[in-house]
Amino acid sequence: MTEKPNSLWAEEIAKLCEEYEIDTTEFPMKKEPLNQLINNKSIINIIDKMNEESTQKSKKEHWIKRKDNIKPGVRQEYMCRLGRKQCGAIIRVRSSMMVTKTNMPGKFNNRNCRMCKRDMEETQEHILQHCEDIRKTTQQIQNYEDIFKEEDIENLKKAANIIIKITETVEDRPQ
Ligand SMILES: [Zn+2]
Repeated sequence: MTEKPNSLWAEEIAKLCEEYEIDTTEFPMKKEPLNQLINNKSIINIIDKMNEESTQKSKKEHWIKRKDNIKPGVRQEYMCRLGRKQCGAIIRVRSSMMVTKTNMPGKFNNRNCRMCKRDMEETQEHILQHCEDIRKTTQQIQNYEDIFKEEDIENLKKAANIIIKITETVEDRPQ
């Protein structure tokens, strides 16, 4: 770890999870629930926990890569302009809490995409943008990175609706 971790990011996520009633019980760090992380005041603890579990490597990288886009303590504009369900969808993706196999390794036997059944890992980015099976029936995100941007709220709203639809599609499919 060469970057200085941003402890407020963890607090912000924990707060948002509570506010939007996001279920964190299946979150891979469940040894230490998110509400306790608020008290730790440090994302170093989270990253240490992630380091303990090698399967969490992609999640850790995801976290480090994204945190710079979030301004802690500032209510972002999208939260005022998107509905509750849409906000929840955006927050879930931004905090790697969408129910995908790579996000919830303890819950599944393998990491292969349940939709296309190819040798593709079931990551958020795969199912939201690249999965060819999902593409046949459901609109996908054109650019996964856009979910992490704030510039165009209308785009974010569209992305949120796509996330909601794809989540339903994936959840209906047996693992
Ligand atoms: Zn797939």
